Amino acid sequence: KRPTDLNVLADEYLKIAYHGLKAKNKDFNCELVTDFDPALEPVEVAPQEIGRVLLNLYNNAFYAVAERGARSKEQGIVYQPAVRVTTQRSESGMEIRVKDNGTGISDVVKAKIFQPFFTTKPTGEGTGLGLSLSYDIITKGHSGMLTVESTSGEGTEFSIQLPYIY
Ligand code: ADP
Ligand code: MG
Repeated sequence: KRPTDLNVLADEYLKIAYHGLKAKNKDFNCELVTDFDPALEPVEVAPQEIGRVLLNLYNNAFYAVAERGARSKEQGIVYQPAVRVTTQRSESGMEIRVKDNGTGISDVVKAKIFQPFFTTKPTGEGTGLGLSLSYDIITKGHSGMLTVESTSGEGTEFSIQLPYIY
């Protein structure tokens, strides 16, 4: 672990994830919005591990907006995919939120998403390990919390909360 600027980390990995997807699928488009708290102090974390968590959350968000995009197209509905990343200082630590306006998650699915190997994606597109690994990195590895709020058909927001002191 070392003192890490989470604004820089969150931004770098957002670009890595987005450009990785665009390299595979040039038609993929998504509005990226970042809202970073400039008063964020460096946090003592393992940057590669937090990077992995961010990549998982970003890739899930892009997948969800792509899926909603495909459905909207079939139905002739206009849809503008967007992913918003927010960082915010709190009393006890800091928070990174990743919000998408993709498919959303039903309550039945939501109850299982942190379980290892749980996936709703077709074979080859998802291992179901991203969120369970992310959960362990944040809770066990960094004494933090990983939570989700979602409305089916509207979108999803994941929140990473990290304490300043361990
Ligand atoms: P995988 O991406 O390989 O399926 P994850 O552990 O990353 O595995 O996610 C588990 C499941 O949680 C996904 O298959 C999907 O059903 C759901 N999920 C995760 N993130 C999102 C999201 N942003 N929007 C909609 N569903 C999501
Ligand atoms: Mg995933």
